[in-house]
Amino acid sequence: MKKPHRKRRSFWIDVIFLIVIIVLTISAASLITLTTKGEAALFSKTKQAVTPASVVIGTSDSDYPDIKIITETSKDLNTPYIIQYPQSLHNPINQAISSYIEDTKQDYLTKHNGSKYKSGLNISYEILSHRSGNYSFVLVNNRKTGKTIRETEIRSFHLNLKTGENFTISDVLDHNSKHLNTLSNLVRKVLDNNPVIEDYLPPGSLHTKTEPTWDNFGNFAITDESLIFYFDEYKLMAGTIGPPAVVIPLKNIDNLLSDKFKSGMQDTDENAITKKPVKERETADLLHQEHSNGDAVVNEETKEEHGKGVKKVALTFDDGPHPKVTMQILETLRKYDAKATFFMLGNMVEKHPEMAREVQKAGHELGNHTWAHLDLTKLGAEKARHEIDRTSAIIENVTGQKVTEFRPPYGAVNDTVRNQTNLPVILWDVDTLDWKNRDSNQLLANVKSATKDGSTILMHDIHQSTADGLEAVLAYLQSEGYIFVKISDL
Ligand code: ZN
Repeated sequence: MKKPHRKRRSFWIDVIFLIVIIVLTISAASLITLTTKGEAALFSKTKQAVTPASVVIGTSDSDYPDIKIITETSKDLNTPYIIQYPQSLHNPINQAISSYIEDTKQDYLTKHNGSKYKSGLNISYEILSHRSGNYSFVLVNNRKTGKTIRETEIRSFHLNLKTGENFTISDVLDHNSKHLNTLSNLVRKVLDNNPVIEDYLPPGSLHTKTEPTWDNFGNFAITDESLIFYFDEYKLMAGTIGPPAVVIPLKNIDNLLSDKFKSGMQDTDENAITKKPVKERETADLLHQEHSNGDAVVNEETKEEHGKGVKKVALTFDDGPHPKVTMQILETLRKYDAKATFFMLGNMVEKHPEMAREVQKAGHELGNHTWAHLDLTKLGAEKARHEIDRTSAIIENVTGQKVTEFRPPYGAVNDTVRNQTNLPVILWDVDTLDWKNRDSNQLLANVKSATKDGSTILMHDIHQSTADGLEAVLAYLQSEGYIFVKISDL
């Protein structure tokens, strides 16, 4: 490991690379619904003008008092769409958002109306807030065109809700181009270190998009914890990978931020900081569906109160092993005499073989989560099998222990995928959404509401927040009479 260790040693550990698969599958799902309904109608397939009757527009409240959500739905046969976007009390930003929506919609309608293939447009939104009163509105634009091609584009808008002023990345970085250079270097390192990109993109191809210009970093969101950058047009294989986002903890870049965006982590009175909900409920629900597609069952039953005797729960940790986070999780599990199952990524085992061995030595179960975390249902049989086989091979080589289970990324599985392996396919019924919330306090809340006897809980041992929140989860479940077992003992 010849990584340059500098003063902020934990930086690389904290920096998390996020592939935003957001909504690729959601859009597919909603489009299917729309087009199926459309087919029932006795219309010929030739050019259908969008009649006013096929378009429905509604307004609803958001979780923020001064923000409304507009929903526009069209059930037109060839060009269905679902569009949701926020509107505030401030006209300039409303107009900027509306005109982006309108342009996108018109472009879509003109290009695809009457085309041979059914197309679809889905624009969803996310609202992220910073305690300074500055809000980021992130629009995720998914378009399906032709037979299989999907495109995702992300656009962000930024508003101070009180003053009505817009803000840009230059405001966040104190209008300092040196800060921009530093940031550009950080983002490049994160992207360069990402296994998926290493495997599937020619080296350096992201370079032009991360040149230190304000424009290149214009698509961003800021929360109390992180600065997030989105990069467009990342079409590697249709539908498998969305645009990448790079998440940088504010506490690691405090010196780059203008005063009002400083993380304030040095404040001792952290409780004084009131946390606002950073995610919109609608989006969270959609994401939940996306993340739990395939056979994953979302558990909606209430927790069993009267089950006497021992209750069992299987903790599962995906996407690792990670040198710091996995280590901390092992330590916490040991304290509670808990056994768990780790669904590892081949490329992570390759990078951190010593961690894979630590997991094995501690007596946990080793699962296969593929090499590069791609949606196997989109890869074709041969590539899917390669993703699985290559991963079992490295885990077994490194640890000397057999892999006994397989969990497909995103829970995406079909018969083609199932036929590529003899390993049982393991999904989950409790999704902690830890990959999305990145909030150690939220972890327990989600577990509390959904866990019952025999549950399988999905977590990720690559997020620091998961490691930090785990102890509370274990303490709670133990007090409720649960023991923690491997999947094979469930
Ligand atoms: Zn995963």
